[in-house]
Amino acid sequence: MRGWRRRRYRMIQIKTADEVALMREAGLVVSRTLQRLADAVGPGVTTSQLDAIAEESIRAEGAVPSFKGYRGFPATICTSVNEEVVHGIPARRRVLRAGDLISIDCGAIVDGWHGDSALTLGVGGVRPELHELMRVTEESMWAGLAAAIAGGRLTDISAAVERSIRSAPKAYGIVDHYGGHGIGTEMHQDPHVLNYGRPGRGPRLVPGLALAIEPMVTAGDPATRELDDGWTVVTRDGSHTAHFEHTVAITEDGPWVLTATDGGAAKLAEYGVKVAQRA
Ligand code: MG
Ligand code: MG
Repeated sequence: MRGWRRRRYRMIQIKTADEVALMREAGLVVSRTLQRLADAVGPGVTTSQLDAIAEESIRAEGAVPSFKGYRGFPATICTSVNEEVVHGIPARRRVLRAGDLISIDCGAIVDGWHGDSALTLGVGGVRPELHELMRVTEESMWAGLAAAIAGGRLTDISAAVERSIRSAPKAYGIVDHYGGHGIGTEMHQDPHVLNYGRPGRGPRLVPGLALAIEPMVTAGDPATRELDDGWTVVTRDGSHTAHFEHTVAITEDGPWVLTATDGGAAKLAEYGVKVAQRA
């Protein structure tokens, strides 16, 4: 790898083009796995069934699930239902019902390089306000990805995410404490990517930097707490929440959304941003 940049307390890994290409392979494994999970989600399905599908999907591609065993996490994916924000543990007794929201977070490793992506889905038909919560959250992720431009600064992304959420017709909560992160030979690297803040601060965005951008948005108050299982994060007020995440590499030619099948081209075009045309 090209090396590590040390700037104050930050250790930021800068990848070569070949290394980013390997991250693309990991990203596509995650993307295909999430698509299989989206096809499988429905009323009566348990979150442990989804976990089994995810592990089979990742291993069938010769990749390794990155969450399993991570700090003792017992499963391949995180499944967070309704008021659960992130880090929900798949369970046989957790049966999805029509009207639920489920957030699925998935990570895979190819040749030592990581991909990390998440999405929220409605189970069966969900109320219009929950559709809107999902739409606002996903859109804010794309706004952040569109700001992942070489020459900018880290908090340009944070500010773009926040601005997008605040521009919604209704007020939403932005979850603090959890956020995006650098990614490469480890799933979680510096820098931390806040989902709010003023632009123009933090490390310079340079080619070879890869980031996971992952807003978590609540329909109510953004305060969270962790359950006694030591993992599941829920909203304190029980309000619904949504979570979307993509891994993006900053290149000379624009952002390359490694966990999106089209590299982010279709969605980022709406922001007037051209993506790197590599694969
Ligand atoms: Mg993730
Ligand atoms: Mg992540």
